[in-house]
Amino acid sequence: MTEKVRAMVQSGPRQMELREFERPAIGADDALVRVEACGVCGSDVEQYKGHLWREGSKPSIPGREPLGVIEEIGDRAAARWGAEPGDRVAIEIIIPCHTCDLCLAGRYQACRNRRGGHGVTPIEKEPSLWGGFADYICLHPDSIVHKMRKDIPADVAVMFNPLGAGFRRAVDYGKTGIGDTVLVLGPGQRGIAAAIASKLAGAGTVIVTGLARDAAKLALGKELGADHTINVGEESTVEKVMDLTGGVGAVVVLEPTPIASAPVLDAIESVRHGRGSFSPG
Ligand SMILES: [Zn+2]
Repeated sequence: MTEKVRAMVQSGPRQMELREFERPAIGADDALVRVEACGVCGSDVEQYKGHLWREGSKPSIPGREPLGVIEEIGDRAAARWGAEPGDRVAIEIIIPCHTCDLCLAGRYQACRNRRGGHGVTPIEKEPSLWGGFADYICLHPDSIVHKMRKDIPADVAVMFNPLGAGFRRAVDYGKTGIGDTVLVLGPGQRGIAAAIASKLAGAGTVIVTGLARDAAKLALGKELGADHTINVGEESTVEKVMDLTGGVGAVVVLEPTPIASAPVLDAIESVRHGRGSFSPG
């Protein structure tokens, strides 16, 4: 009897159902990962609610931030990823082509020839198990995986995606340095992760903004490293930043807020003249 794999399938806006699939056979270039945990991306929520559901959208298994243990892996895949059965891996959502100009320049997130995406590729594409809300997830030959230590509890390790994004924004893009003032516009999981990364990179002062309804997130931001928080409904971000920086502005401004233009304007007006960096979302 073939082993069955359970997975949640989204077939329309707010339509999710538990389905069973055949456990797929693994080829030389593929791998099968047993899912330990999967983060919930803001886009998972938009996908569930139907904001991303368009004419012609097809059923898929959501879950863009999977963490798991390699159960089976083909010979060539093992050599490519330097991985073997039993290894714990974090899986990136985007499955890029690895050959276009953007991929070769390291900007694979913007690849226009994507092979698909974990949590995005429809189940009609064999072997269907492309999302993390399932017992097992398949790796495409072009998937990007990162090996992770196994001693980190799964519910912490699964934060790899927002924490990685926070590090990329604050350190890779923002170049946060010792003593810098960093302004983070928005207290979502990526904003708070950016505040944590900024502090660990040596920032002197970290400021996080949010709306009145974000009070709990701002309090958490303060607990995790923010020195100051700004409720943008009650205070002017630009005035408060200028006040806190002696009128010169923040050295690094990070803007991880989606679908809003006001933070972009605040970023431009809050960043230090001459030696500032602004990293948009
Ligand atoms: Zn590419």
